Amino acid sequence: MNIHEYQAKQLLRRYGVPVPRGEVAHNPAEAETIAEELDGPVWVVKAQIHAGGRGKAGGVKICRSVKEVVASADKLLGSRLVTHQTGPQGKEVKKVYIEQGSDIARELYVAQLIDRKTGGVAVIASTEGGMDIEEVAAKHPDKIIHLSLSPATPMRAFQARNIAFQLDLKEREVHKFVRLLMSMNKAFRELDATLVEINPLVVTKSNRLIALDCKMTFDENALFRHHDIQDMRDEHEMDPLELEASRHDLNYVKLEGDIGCMVNGAGLAMATMDIIQHYGGQPANFMDIAGAATKERVACAFKLIFNDPGVKGILVNVFGGMMRCNSIAEGIVGAAREVGLDRPLVVRLEGTNVELGRRILQESGLPIVTATTLSDAAGKIVNAVQGRA
Ligand code: ADP
Ligand code: MG
Repeated sequence: MNIHEYQAKQLLRRYGVPVPRGEVAHNPAEAETIAEELDGPVWVVKAQIHAGGRGKAGGVKICRSVKEVVASADKLLGSRLVTHQTGPQGKEVKKVYIEQGSDIARELYVAQLIDRKTGGVAVIASTEGGMDIEEVAAKHPDKIIHLSLSPATPMRAFQARNIAFQLDLKEREVHKFVRLLMSMNKAFRELDATLVEINPLVVTKSNRLIALDCKMTFDENALFRHHDIQDMRDEHEMDPLELEASRHDLNYVKLEGDIGCMVNGAGLAMATMDIIQHYGGQPANFMDIAGAATKERVACAFKLIFNDPGVKGILVNVFGGMMRCNSIAEGIVGAAREVGLDRPLVVRLEGTNVELGRRILQESGLPIVTATTLSDAAGKIVNAVQGRA
């Protein structure tokens, strides 16, 4: 799960990481009140969207008066911001963050994230902050500092100090950096984050260290432990289909292809997507109806897939274990009738009550193609979608 910069800064502040004073505004009037309470002479108005690269795209405005703050907020609010991370359609700005401007001497980069290779925590740092870190890594790999931490133990002061020296920090900055990096690590571990990225971490002209931007993502499976973070979810930022699916407890992930997949269990989902690709097709999504799905949930999942205009055909591949095949078939038939089946639908069922399930599909009178094996099913749906009957 992602959150906004202003929320990430609230969390950092709670852990003692210095961030500029600021507050979020939903309209120009709020922006004015906030700006008046902050001291000048420089204010920054920042578009709050779940995407980076705002600076280059005009989503970060440096202002020199309250009047300018109001004008910038007015301009940004309601506009669509297109950055290299939003895709060409951009994202609508619904909130802006108004904060105090910093007198920047240096912009550094620090991040802590789950390291899939080691199963630990990777700490990444660079003197080249404020830029796209992927670009720095590609062009100047020597400028990336990397440290791998064990997941079980907190970061130690000597480890942070070592990074501070590699970043060429001055003596009076080192201890501030060490404290900051250790607080950041505490936040990362306690909040079950998968990423905490501060870019830029600035050193001011008066040798202070301040997190000027922060991105945080969290492990969804640990969110039940963090109700305050759950409350930070901005539904406006989510894919509408993914949001609807999460409301029904369905695991839905949108992909790039055109074959909708309804499966049960992540393993079967992976295998189904692999075999679709093997037959030359591309999955449009990953819809896992796992667990004890009822007829109603099956129908809901089916309709969600169906409502995606990118889906040109649907493959249902379900193993009825706890769930019986007749309930699955009833859910599919009911939903297919309701939406008016106008695209190819291939169904492969196995497991409990499979005969009954197949009979329900056959007797429905709907143009549903049944399949026996996984290859049979994948071959049929790929052929149908690509126009080879
Ligand atoms: P993004 O990463 O989305 O482009 P940032 O928050 O990193 O957005 O802002 C981009 C740049 O704007 C920063 O690298 C910094 O130079 C400048 N900036 C952002 N916030 C402030 C601030 N409070 N004071 C001064 N400059 C800022
Ligand atoms: Mg940034």
